[in-house]
Amino acid sequence: MDASRREFLQKLSGLGATAVSLPLTSFAGYEKHYAEVAAQLDRLGQGRKLGIALVGLGSYSANQLAPALQQTKNCQLTGIVTGTPSKAEEWMKKYNIPKENVYDYKTFDRIADNPAIDVVYVVLPNSMHAEYVIRAAKAGKHVICEKPLAITEKECQEMIDACKKANRQLAVGYRLHYEPFTQEMMRLGREKVFGNIKFVEASDGFRAGNPNQWRLKKAMAGGGPLMDVGIYAIQGVRLVTGEEPISVTAQFAPKTDPQKFKEVEETLYWQFQFPSGITSTSTTSYAAGVERLYVSAENGWFELRPAFGYGPLKGQTSKGPIDKPVVNHQAAHMDGVCATLLAGQPLPDHITGEEGKRDVRLMQAIYRAAETGRKIQLS
Ligand code: NAD
Repeated sequence: MDASRREFLQKLSGLGATAVSLPLTSFAGYEKHYAEVAAQLDRLGQGRKLGIALVGLGSYSANQLAPALQQTKNCQLTGIVTGTPSKAEEWMKKYNIPKENVYDYKTFDRIADNPAIDVVYVVLPNSMHAEYVIRAAKAGKHVICEKPLAITEKECQEMIDACKKANRQLAVGYRLHYEPFTQEMMRLGREKVFGNIKFVEASDGFRAGNPNQWRLKKAMAGGGPLMDVGIYAIQGVRLVTGEEPISVTAQFAPKTDPQKFKEVEETLYWQFQFPSGITSTSTTSYAAGVERLYVSAENGWFELRPAFGYGPLKGQTSKGPIDKPVVNHQAAHMDGVCATLLAGQPLPDHITGEEGKRDVRLMQAIYRAAETGRKIQLS
């Protein structure tokens, strides 16, 4: 490690000791945290980037994360972990990654000795998240893990505990938390700009093509479209209401292609009830597309449509269009997480492993509700 980097990290650890975690129950709290982090980074001086290693070079890493890491200001792609030697060659050339920063799944743990890698980003099939997050924490690295955090609540807890034990931070790959249209929906909802919210409709689905993909295998995916994109609908409702559901009912739609959907649901509907009386209805599907977040309040409505994809997102309210800058979601997310890490602050609650665990718990309850036909109490 060069002297200036060591000096910088020493400054950060000093800051970390006094940093205070802000609860993000309000949108103002969210804004305050990131404004403080930005001010802190300004005071420290610009130009430092954390090194990120991507684990799993599938479509999300190749098409979204690696290109986004060419635009980030607080982090950069310094390492890769892949089981495919030809991909390693291709990525080393394309992204100028030195051989000593390239690992496979067996040599992965040696990443512990590599100071060029500060953060490990796990982008593997869902059932593999827990193992690699825990190994990354044991290697002494901060971790970002793709959604869903894991396939069971128990695994989520083990991941959180492993990071805590290693004194490293765990973030979940919720890119929309740093996306301006989504943040505006949060503000409109949480600050009750249109009065109290009465109900929310939030749905996300697409037509899943390849019948052999891991997303259709329960052991690897943990479930069907709910685990993959329905999680965005859950997030959307929680983000705009700022409340946690108290009960849920759910129904599986009949399968139109039982052969393809042997192991996981094809389409699923669920309804949440919230403490203030807000209700929400959602659909998720691998049979056909749907993507919107619609909020109806006492004095008007606000919506995103599309709401959850890579963008550009589009927003309307009963008073006119939502006009916000279009950003690269993945770059904004990684920069946001790494800004907090660079500032030596604890990650705010909204982006931690705990937040990922909340959604996994809700998804398990949705499945239980659909399987039993009963209303499941959540609190
Ligand atoms: P993918 O199938 O394209 O890539 C998976 C990668 O894992 C491949 O490189 C594959 O070689 C590797 N792999 C290692 N062991 C494997 C095994 N036993 N079986 C299958 N693959 C194995 O998947 P993806 O679309 O890149 O998704 C990866 C993760 O990223 C998932 O958790 C997914 O939910 C998440 N994701 C998030 C977003 C988002 O918007 N946040 C978007 C897409 C995917």
